[in-house]
Amino acid sequence: MVFRKKEKVQIKSPDQIELMRIAGRVVGQTLHALEQAVIPGVTTAELDQIARDCIYGAGATPSFLGYYGFPAVICTSINHEVVHGIPGTVVVQEGDLISIDCGAIVNGWHGDAAISVIAGGATDSAIHKLSEVTRESLYAGIAAARVGNTMGDIGAAVESVIRGAGTYGIVEDYVGHGIGTEMHMYPPVPNYGKAGSGMALKVGMVLAIEPMVTLGSAEVAVLEDDWTVVTTDRSWASHWEHTVAITETGPEILTLP
Ligand code: MG
Ligand code: MG
Repeated sequence: MVFRKKEKVQIKSPDQIELMRIAGRVVGQTLHALEQAVIPGVTTAELDQIARDCIYGAGATPSFLGYYGFPAVICTSINHEVVHGIPGTVVVQEGDLISIDCGAIVNGWHGDAAISVIAGGATDSAIHKLSEVTRESLYAGIAAARVGNTMGDIGAAVESVIRGAGTYGIVEDYVGHGIGTEMHMYPPVPNYGKAGSGMALKVGMVLAIEPMVTLGSAEVAVLEDDWTVVTTDRSWASHWEHTVAITETGPEILTLP
């Protein structure tokens, strides 16, 4: 996405954060259902249908469907696909690493989160570790999302977990974002950075923090479907995301089940 200069951060009141909690919970519950459904033999279109049923069943609207023409409710990105994969006839195989990204809208407020799941459970320890490192880096970034810190502190926290865990690629072409009355809002939330740099974090900011980590190069490309982002060296990638509110008492994850 393109961020225009001089854009303002949308600051949410406690009442508005309560509304975002409702949208976030729908996303969390949908991803929880999808996690259970990732078994070898399922197609990504079937996963999309589960998400569709969960979101509409909760009285919410999917954010991704029709977003710049995106044709599905969730993004399903398998193995060397990083993000924005389109669900379809692909059959999930045992050992596949599938990242599922989901967004929902309730009363005009958005939630956005992603998980990575290994179909049939962890058999390859390097793949399991890739997903765990990515998830841990997300939680380090969330812990840094507090008043007194800056945007650079979030990026530095994410990056330090990944760098400390081994030789991984940190995707830089796609980053997290502000979220609220739109899915993608100012400011960008990079998964790398210098502690103490960037804008000061304030109460009422809501950020989607979403590290994308690879087993090889961080270089990515978009496939001819104009959506699917893949690693150019075909190394496998993991993606985890939560929508997080900065409150007076610290970070609050809004996209839990
Ligand atoms: Mg997302
Ligand atoms: Mg996002």
